Amino acid sequence: MKKLSSKEKYRLLTRDLDWEYSYEDKKEAFPYEEFEGLKIVDWDKWEDPFKLTMDTYWKYQAEKEKKLYAILDAFAQNNSQLSVSDPRYLNAIKIFLTAISPQEYQAGIGFAHAGRQLSGVGARVACQMQAIDELRHVQTQIHAMSHYNKHFNGFSNFADMQDRTWYLSVPVSFFHDARTSGPFEFLLAVGFSFEYVLTNLLFVPFMSGAAHNSDMATVTFGFSAQSDEARHMTLGLEVIKFLLEQHEDNVPIVQRILDKWFWRGTRLLTVVAMMMDYMLPKKVMSWAEAWEVYYEEAGGALFKDLARYGIKPPKYADLIEKEKQHVSHQAWWTFYQYGHATGFHTWIPTDEELDWLSEKYPETFDKYYRPRWEMAKKMEAEGKRYFTSGLPQLCQVCQLPMIFTEMDNPTQTSYRQITYNEENYHFCSDGCKDIFEHEPEKYVQAWLPVNQVLQGNMGADLADTVENYFKIPTGAGGDINDSEDLKIWKENS
Ligand code: FE
Ligand code: ZN
Repeated sequence: MKKLSSKEKYRLLTRDLDWEYSYEDKKEAFPYEEFEGLKIVDWDKWEDPFKLTMDTYWKYQAEKEKKLYAILDAFAQNNSQLSVSDPRYLNAIKIFLTAISPQEYQAGIGFAHAGRQLSGVGARVACQMQAIDELRHVQTQIHAMSHYNKHFNGFSNFADMQDRTWYLSVPVSFFHDARTSGPFEFLLAVGFSFEYVLTNLLFVPFMSGAAHNSDMATVTFGFSAQSDEARHMTLGLEVIKFLLEQHEDNVPIVQRILDKWFWRGTRLLTVVAMMMDYMLPKKVMSWAEAWEVYYEEAGGALFKDLARYGIKPPKYADLIEKEKQHVSHQAWWTFYQYGHATGFHTWIPTDEELDWLSEKYPETFDKYYRPRWEMAKKMEAEGKRYFTSGLPQLCQVCQLPMIFTEMDNPTQTSYRQITYNEENYHFCSDGCKDIFEHEPEKYVQAWLPVNQVLQGNMGADLADTVENYFKIPTGAGGDINDSEDLKIWKENS
């Protein structure tokens, strides 16, 4: 038999594996395909984004794994955990392991499910490959960070923390929401809005940050994941173009889904904003700068391209543009105050860092945020490091506490409320309120960690609640200056 070309192999893998439904109803085999009300006229118009056969896929991925694990081994053998810039840096990695890596796993489940629900075979195979990629991401990340777990606090309980830790309900609920949507909404949410436009902000500038802070383990898994991202982005883009070209009635549905997931994605990235501006001891670029390059420029060009289908830039784009000057400061200030209930350490920025923030945020930092840090410094010097004892009000949709402000008055908390079936619901923004109003029956079911505490699900005192209800390991949180991490660091480096 003559050897097949890779194009021919790919055709056999996809189109040739499909079959006609002769005695079963195809609609019953794919019950969710019309869930969003999108019209698919002709699956043959689907352009396969990956064009990769399984044997090439495994060969290529195995090569990457080999290189990755060689570097991880060397990292461990050289005790490189002590060569990172500063022990404060490790806390950004604690957030990575607890907030980001488990969502790679959720993405894997989501793509497997979406693939199962699509009757187009090309889309099915692409989803399957991405599902495997996502499982590889979570695995390599856990392996890379397991080395830090041998030396520092806060890495040990990442799996249990998913179900309970108050601030982790933000990323967890994001992916629960996506996974419980129809298959096309999932692909538009994770494949397009998140992968195509927003994850570059994590995998490019944050990974350069990891390099600047000499964390070669993180840089290596980051680039190993990022090299799959090119395929993921093509899938995201193919989904949107396919849907828009199938039927003009799809345009408003796709627009609503994009509006929703850009808003949810923007809210989710608040945590990354804080990691970039406050948690990297050696800075690369500010969050606002990263946002301009990776979101406004790259995303802007993309939306210009989609305009020919009648797609507009996401709703609240103008608000999003203003918020980049504020969100990292609002988030770090919040975590600083709740530092006794977090799974990572917090601190007051050094004088040098405060000056860097003033320079990077000339419009907002000195006016709104520096005075708070000056006050915190004064209190700390007097031996009164500030921790709040109040419980925050959470947004019913994004689950972030009400930490954001109005953009026309940045000293005024942004807060919305509605009554639905005689219950009051609270939101951080119009964006989150819109999402609730479109599917109230979905979001009334949200599991909100603060509400759980108010319902009596807690320990004997705060420390007990943090450890046994929120599942945060002992020694993970509190101020960095009182931490065992810092002690260990000083004794060994
Ligand atoms: Fe991934
Ligand atoms: Zn919200």
